[in-house]
Amino acid sequence: MIVLSSPSGGGKTTVSKKLLARDRNIVRSVSCTTREPRAGEKNGRDYFFVTPAKFQSMISQGAFLEWAKVHQHRYGTPRRWVEAQLRKGKDVLFVIDVQGGTALKRKNPEALLLFLQPPSFGVLRQRLVGRQTNSSADMKVRLADARWELREGRRYDYRVVNDRLGQAVSDILKIIRKERLLRG
Ligand code: ADP
Ligand code: 5GP
Repeated sequence: MIVLSSPSGGGKTTVSKKLLARDRNIVRSVSCTTREPRAGEKNGRDYFFVTPAKFQSMISQGAFLEWAKVHQHRYGTPRRWVEAQLRKGKDVLFVIDVQGGTALKRKNPEALLLFLQPPSFGVLRQRLVGRQTNSSADMKVRLADARWELREGRRYDYRVVNDRLGQAVSDILKIIRKERLLRG
């Protein structure tokens, strides 16, 4: 299990796409969310977009490995697909928030927790604004949440600064390969 977390706008989506393209043994877990799709997002590829009622029934059925409320919506990792991939020997990448990463680590101490650190708070704000996918109210919530997410990130196994994208991706690949060697 490889967890990639950062504040919103930290670069998780961008970095994870590059990791998947560069290492064929890594597969990405697709989460369920109650938030609305953004322009260009596809159901089943970026997320499974579900109603709050459906999300609640999945919680009741124990269908999530972990779930959390993040920036006013709920997000969760479906359990079955992940367990099947792990049985096949795949490394599963979880692009989830710090609450989810911490919960996964508690249940699975071997999980590798990676935190993508923005070069500065100002750069994080610029990237989030530049992405143009959030309303200004939503952006305020995400930037306010970023403060404690950055603090929580200090507890992760590794922190990688996402300054130059190519460097961040190769730093993460080095960490993953080193951990594979250590774990045999
Ligand atoms: P997250 O998934 O963590 O919310 P994104 O991957 O959507 O973050 O990245 C936020 C924005 O920052 C996007 O517009 C992305 O293109 C840009 N970005 C990500 N990493 C870098 C980087 N290293 N340098 C410059 N821009 C970046
Ligand atoms: P976004 O709305 O920008 O796609 O995601 C908001 C936050 O929710 C991000 O930090 C993202 O990593 C997190 N997230 C996405 N899926 C999950 C999940 O399944 N579980 C948890 N705990 N967080 C998730």
